[in-house]
Amino acid sequence: MFLFFALFMSVAQAQNCSLAAHDMTLEDILADKQYPEERRYTSTDRGFRQYEAPSTHGSNRFALTFDDGPHEIYTPQILDVLKAYDVKATFFIVTDRINARTMPILVRALQEGHIIASHSADHANSNEIGEAAFKASLKSSLLKVKAVYDAAGMDWQEIYFRYPYAAYGTRADYHQMNVLQQVSQELFGDNCVQFAFWDIDTADWVADITPADVAQTLKANFVGGRAYDFESYRDARGRLLYRKVPFTINSPLKGGVVLQHDIHQKNIEGTRSFLEFAKQNGIESTTLPEIEEFKVERDCHFLN
Ligand SMILES: [Zn+2]
Repeated sequence: MFLFFALFMSVAQAQNCSLAAHDMTLEDILADKQYPEERRYTSTDRGFRQYEAPSTHGSNRFALTFDDGPHEIYTPQILDVLKAYDVKATFFIVTDRINARTMPILVRALQEGHIIASHSADHANSNEIGEAAFKASLKSSLLKVKAVYDAAGMDWQEIYFRYPYAAYGTRADYHQMNVLQQVSQELFGDNCVQFAFWDIDTADWVADITPADVAQTLKANFVGGRAYDFESYRDARGRLLYRKVPFTINSPLKGGVVLQHDIHQKNIEGTRSFLEFAKQNGIESTTLPEIEEFKVERDCHFLN
């Protein structure tokens, strides 16, 4: 009963304030992340912002994450930049993009100390597909990431999944978090698949966001100043489009998980520029498993 009441109160808070995550204590969030076996997620969603990593805020540390790859051209160039600055990142890949040309890039990423994680099989919006389709896609995607680790001769023990579009939890007929738990039990015999979101969004997928804008948004999240968000609009023919919107950060987070996409060329120079700034200003990199909210505390191995 208490759990239901607590959940209800959190929902009420979240609906009143999009920054409700900041009102939750770190303990609340960590407890919520720990797959409590007695709890089932309901169809009432509190939104992904509850899964920020507040332990990183104020830490002057960032964890880079890149979604939607691998990309044959850009991913290797981003790896070059990361290598030059000795920064380790997590790549949330769309596993349908694994092929004979991209597999060696992923193996290289693992050999250079990065983490490969799942961003689904085909980048479908999980709120738009049924339970069986979501479950099958999730399971096959995790097995394909495992195959990347196998190809590198490595064991995948830090298992992360990120929902495309950060979308989950709006269906009445099932909740994606419950399916995640089922699939995790089937593959690992334990709750091993951690869902990971982000604190700092570079909006790098917006067409008119430049490499300099990406770097500027990242800098502003540490030292304040100009940053870039986006807005949607309709053109004269009624098409839905997106454009960048500058805004000012007065109270920077000074730490967090960063969202970028390695399918966009702008992140080669954008990342390099930010990493140079970070190096000059004592801002350090970290990785998901080093962050309190994303620590892997279970001994996770694929059953087969
Ligand atoms: Zn994505």
